Amino acid sequence: MLSKNLIQELTRIIGKENIRTDEEDLICYSYDATNQKFLPDAVVFPKNADEISLILKLANKEGFPVVPRGAGSGFSGGSLPVEGGVVVSLERMNKILTIDTDNLIAEVEPGVVTGEFQWAVEDLGLFYPPDPSSLKFCTIGGNVAECAGGPRAVKYGVTKDYVLGLEIVLPTGEIINTGAQTLKGVVGYDLTRLMVGSEGTLGIVTKIILKLLPLPEATKTMFAIFTDMRDAAETVSKIISSKIIPSTLEFMDRDSIKCVEDYSYIGLPYNVDALLLIEVDGDKELVENQAEAIKKICLDNGAKEIRIAVDKKEAKKLWQLRRAISPALAKLKPNKINEDIVVPRSKIQDAIIGVREIAKKHNLINANFGHAGDGNIHVNIMIDKSDKAEFLRAEKAIREIFELVLGFGGTISGEHGIGISKMPYIGMELSRSAIDVMKKIKQVLDPNEILNPGKIFPRI
Ligand SMILES: Cc1cc2nc3c(=O)[nH]c(=O)nc-3n(C[C@H](O)[C@H](O)[C@H](O)COP(=O)(O)OP(=O)(O)OC[C@H]3O[C@@H](n4cnc5c(N)ncnc54)[C@H](O)[C@@H]3O)c2cc1C
Repeated sequence: MLSKNLIQELTRIIGKENIRTDEEDLICYSYDATNQKFLPDAVVFPKNADEISLILKLANKEGFPVVPRGAGSGFSGGSLPVEGGVVVSLERMNKILTIDTDNLIAEVEPGVVTGEFQWAVEDLGLFYPPDPSSLKFCTIGGNVAECAGGPRAVKYGVTKDYVLGLEIVLPTGEIINTGAQTLKGVVGYDLTRLMVGSEGTLGIVTKIILKLLPLPEATKTMFAIFTDMRDAAETVSKIISSKIIPSTLEFMDRDSIKCVEDYSYIGLPYNVDALLLIEVDGDKELVENQAEAIKKICLDNGAKEIRIAVDKKEAKKLWQLRRAISPALAKLKPNKINEDIVVPRSKIQDAIIGVREIAKKHNLINANFGHAGDGNIHVNIMIDKSDKAEFLRAEKAIREIFELVLGFGGTISGEHGIGISKMPYIGMELSRSAIDVMKKIKQVLDPNEILNPGKIFPRI
């Protein structure tokens, strides 16, 4: 609990209109997409790095936790104030500072909503590929902190591939710049890469320099339906080995398809086992040729039905299918344990079969979908948290699923991060020595453990 004096000090730094301490306001900053809740003592809304620096210096002096927050859409609890303290909401720092059409770079503040940035650069014929499905509300700062991916990662990579430089306020309050406004730069250690994906534990990002690409001339979207999931998995391998890299190659299993149909009545067939949503982009002729080649690969590998969108409107409809999954799943059970495992692409089929078997063994409802093109599968175990026995069975199942994934040479998180949700499992993937190196980095930068404490590393 912060003392009255500390609240007054914070108010002096930030101005009384930019601090909230009433419970009804605090509740709005107490949760994220994991649906867990931890009430902060105060929320502040800074407008620049200098104010954040003063807050962090005060936190070091007085020993209270500080937790950065974008839109709170994270799936691993990263923005939750698990030890109370002050939430630093970046929502007022939401300006696109420059879009440099000569050098194909942009500079933004962290609170810019990802989708709004994408649309702004598209208006100028440019392209910012990272496209988390939450893009209508998540922020670029949150994307940088989690190294967010999305459907287009299969061709274009993830957030770290677009971050050229950062302005960061370190946990002790110093403001530093990393990287440069250039595509190359090897001066000193690569602090930009260290910060991207550090889940708000090593610094608060206050400016981001991003690389842009020219907007592809054309795109073509299609979906293919399969009565046997193995055919869909084989099709994914065949598309990749044919040396076509689609801009998206998304996968839904039968339970996800059923859920979406029950939720939105789109007209999907009921008795199918898998669906692939595929998009290609590039110049017009290439796109036509690649779409035809992919259609043939799908049919040769057992696709029962293929739909190709004739225009942007129809393409948008096909994407609604994919975006409907998350809300649709909520119809199955009130709570969702959502894992984002990644396996080598050749192991997707084995991984899904394995996950289904584990879920069945523990008598759990399971639906899988995700980014088949890069092996990133969103495994959803649907539970009712008030059913303690079911919750314990789900925890056992998750551990077995992670063992399976690591056995395939995969990783337990492709894009959602560790936060608090996957903290108990980090030792399954990383060695003691690797964790020690990471903890030492944290200690050097944050000796008083004030920035986002209680995240990533279990305290043992
Ligand atoms: C429906 C839905 C779909 C999603 N789809 C995807 C997807 O396809 N791909 C994907 O990768 N993720 C996805 N996510 C997860 C989530 O949207 C991403 O992790 C996103 O990057 C979080 O952004 P945010 O602004 O909401 O950050 P928050 O949730 O507020 O914070 C996330 C982490 O970033 C830290 N942080 C935030 N801002 C800063 C900053 N300026 N400086 C330092 N640290 C900061 C926080 O402390 C926290 O640790 C999805 C979420 C939902 C709800």
